[in-house]
Amino acid sequence: MIYSRYNIFSKIRESENYFIMNLLSGSADILSSEDAEKVKAIQNDNNFPYDDFVRELAGKGYLMDSDEEARLYRQKYLDFINSRDKDEIQLFFITNYSCNFACSYCYQDQYNNPKQELSIELIDSFFQYIQSEFAGRKKYITVFGGEPLLNNPKQKLLLKHLIENANESNLEICIVTNGYTLEEYISILKSGKIREIQVTLDGTEAIHNKRRFLKGGAGTFDRIVRGIDACLESQIPINLRMVADKENINNLPELAQLAIDRSWTNSPWFKTQIGRNYELHHCQSANDKLFSRISLFERIFDLVRQHPHILQFYRPAYSVAKFLFENGDLPDPLFDSCPACKTEWAFDYTGKIYPCTATVGKDEESIGTFYPSVTRNTELIDEWKRRDITSIEECKECNVQLACGGGCGSVAKNRTGNICSTDCRPVKELLEIGFSAYFNDYK
Ligand code: SF4
Ligand code: SF4
Repeated sequence: MIYSRYNIFSKIRESENYFIMNLLSGSADILSSEDAEKVKAIQNDNNFPYDDFVRELAGKGYLMDSDEEARLYRQKYLDFINSRDKDEIQLFFITNYSCNFACSYCYQDQYNNPKQELSIELIDSFFQYIQSEFAGRKKYITVFGGEPLLNNPKQKLLLKHLIENANESNLEICIVTNGYTLEEYISILKSGKIREIQVTLDGTEAIHNKRRFLKGGAGTFDRIVRGIDACLESQIPINLRMVADKENINNLPELAQLAIDRSWTNSPWFKTQIGRNYELHHCQSANDKLFSRISLFERIFDLVRQHPHILQFYRPAYSVAKFLFENGDLPDPLFDSCPACKTEWAFDYTGKIYPCTATVGKDEESIGTFYPSVTRNTELIDEWKRRDITSIEECKECNVQLACGGGCGSVAKNRTGNICSTDCRPVKELLEIGFSAYFNDYK
């Protein structure tokens, strides 16, 4: 019997207690400091006495026979692949790369905007392609840009056509928008099966307008807020996203209060997410304002302590801590956190296909075309498909692999030039905070 290589064991932040977790056996426990000392002794010496405590650890899979551990790993991996083969596919459709905003941190601002334009013919080709390529699979479409909801008659006509096509195919639609024209689009949106509209609001008025303004500099806050109100009134689900960095994170308590005051947080059609502003495609002008993954969540942890009302607006995941708290169980092991070319594909208005949204618009990342003719770079597609924690050398030896899943393939490729390389997540550190937050504070 050995100390399982998949145990994640550490001290809970601002507590005397420890946690131990094993996603292969599905166990998680909070340990007193005395029991934690016994675990440390077992970690350091495999000749441990077989007492009641050891029997309990073994019963929960923290200690395992190594052959049994390998067998369980193989079985869970096959379960993961089987279940992913039945998962719903997310198909991004990029209507244009142009935008009416000039956000201070936009990563798409350096993209070329090919002179080509979206057409009815291209939309029809997209639907023909996805109906034959992904026949029999559950799927939905996410409309993306640039800004897809541009306020001109031609764009509205094209969006209407896209929604009609989706309705005929019985497909739900998500839209990622800056939210500026939501009010003008409400009647078109109501004609579709809208799963969700993702809108970005980076803070209350002054903070948001400093970061997300029109080309020309005018503020955008008021219209976005009215657009969110209009969607919620029409029971169109809103997913409000705050893109956070050191410039706006301290405004989170005020933004949360605004959402509470406008009764957004009482609506069943309202949810939120916080996205980290990070450097994916090109150098940010001010990298010192960016958070690392862990420092963002450390800051949120502190802010929630000082302003608990934030929890009405946003509850951080802290790796699997929130899931464990809400479900009383761990999620299944995550053998792969990157859905590119597996359950995610992206298509743009020039007829090109890409592995996912992080790669759209970059010619060298294209994996084929659906218009005017169908072509596929099968070698590149296979490389994306192969990427998981069993194909990345470092991940095979990593004890947090079943919570991390290898991270983002695009970030990994930007860093190393190789898709099958690591994008490490600070899983242990996030859990240290998460156990403190969910099992001490938020209770
Ligand atoms: S490459 Fe990154 S952004 Fe793209 S699907 Fe994978 S994890 Fe997501
Ligand atoms: S990406 Fe890094 S942290 Fe994640 S499983 Fe691989 S080695 Fe571990």
